[in-house]
Amino acid sequence: MRQYAPDMTTSFSNLQLAPALARAVAEMGYESMTPIQAQAIPVVLTGQDVMGAAQTGTGKTAAFSLPLLQRLLKHENTSTSPARHPVRALVLLPTRELADQVAQQIKQYAVHTKLRSTVVFGGMDMKPQTLELKRGVEVLVATPGRLLDHIEAKNVVLNQVEYVVLDEADRMLDIGFLPDLQRILSHLPKTRTTLLFSATFSTEIRRLAGSYLQNPVTIEVARPNETAATITQLFYSVAVDEKYNALRHLIKTNGMKQAFVFCNSKLGCARLARNLERDGYRTSALHGDKSQDERLKALDGFKKGEVDLLVCTDVAARGLDIKDVPAVFNFDIPFNAEDYVHRIGRTGRAGALGHAISFVSGSDQRLVVDIEKLLKTKITLENVAVEPDRSRERREPREQREPRESREPREPRIERSESASRPREGYATRDTRPREQDSARRREVGYLPAARVKNDPFFDKPYEATARSADAPPAAPEPLRKSANIKHKRVVAALFKSVG
Ligand code: AMP
Repeated sequence: MRQYAPDMTTSFSNLQLAPALARAVAEMGYESMTPIQAQAIPVVLTGQDVMGAAQTGTGKTAAFSLPLLQRLLKHENTSTSPARHPVRALVLLPTRELADQVAQQIKQYAVHTKLRSTVVFGGMDMKPQTLELKRGVEVLVATPGRLLDHIEAKNVVLNQVEYVVLDEADRMLDIGFLPDLQRILSHLPKTRTTLLFSATFSTEIRRLAGSYLQNPVTIEVARPNETAATITQLFYSVAVDEKYNALRHLIKTNGMKQAFVFCNSKLGCARLARNLERDGYRTSALHGDKSQDERLKALDGFKKGEVDLLVCTDVAARGLDIKDVPAVFNFDIPFNAEDYVHRIGRTGRAGALGHAISFVSGSDQRLVVDIEKLLKTKITLENVAVEPDRSRERREPREQREPRESREPREPRIERSESASRPREGYATRDTRPREQDSARRREVGYLPAARVKNDPFFDKPYEATARSADAPPAAPEPLRKSANIKHKRVVAALFKSVG
């Protein structure tokens, strides 16, 4: 990074940093503060909330960590008791790489203090992280998913957190971490300092700040914002054995060039990818049984436009940063409502508009209710009239097809909230409605409404952070999801028994 020429106002010496921190800064070779540091450090030193627009590379890590460490120095101690080293500052970042990078910087700034810091992120064994957490740390850097795993496993308690930093907040929202953030924040004391850093101040970021920051000081050193990306969500009532036709029909009718198609199982994913490939779509499957190399190849092919449809399980729901994915299909409704958010976050990124299309069969109704609850919105099921797939019948002679009874049973019809009459599923019918109902007619034959900008309903949540006194008990945390990383002892014991 370029060196900032010292002057009267931006010299670190003006800050009156504690000697231990000033020494570390000098050893890092910094002479003068960067613009974000010059603006943010004095504010954070006063304990006020900050909403900072700054990208990586602007020196924002030091902008929040130096004042935060300075404020924590009063807790410095050499005790070996973990109880004397509770987590006082929590820094959340969207990716492992960023978390690791920020944690390393914090370690360097705190090198001459007795404050302890560590980092936890996914994709690594939890045990060494658990040991560190149990030893006690004042500064914890984490990615949201892994932190929730540790909270669930009771490896860490966050009721003494004084500072929370939401770094790269826009990316965390892009990835779909909002529900995780909400859960984590529900474990923290309400009286605290919250610092939010984001490359942009989109509507979503402002709403997040509105919910969790108290009278923040706004600091902007980044370029002006882009318009928030939004997603048009559609839910179609489709019988299980019509989902495949519906998928092809919607892709064809709307001339979609590329899409993610999410399935709930590896097997379902592989089977669907095979069928689509057979039907002429350039398709790749992405699921847990694929090697890292195969996964990278599939993604690369999709990015280059060599793959039309990426059929995936939830392994692909998080963290993939592919711009301009016009549509995401939920061929299966996810079992966990939060995964719905992660999945549809693959489209509508970086200011682009996107469609998220979900197929709902009879037994999925309760999953849709879960999504409704999470989104705090009413979901309306739509219908689509699909032409029967004659080409498949030609390919598969009648006697080679599975007997009717061995196929999955036809699902009962879901009650619809629409008043329009519904054509028989699987068959296009002549529409005799008057011309004024053209848009309804277009919808039913499978034309999607134009993607449009609208607010993400997640952020319509009213402000909840009522100011409470520091000694009042923190609000009861929400129940946590079961983590795939944590083996539940009873299940493991039962497995051993059945083997023995
Ligand atoms: P960040 O935006 O926090 O990721 O910082 C980007 C790079 O700038 C890191 O390598 C920091 O070590 C470096 N850096 C941070 N503050 C300063 C400063 N005041 N002067 C020079 N380099 C800095």
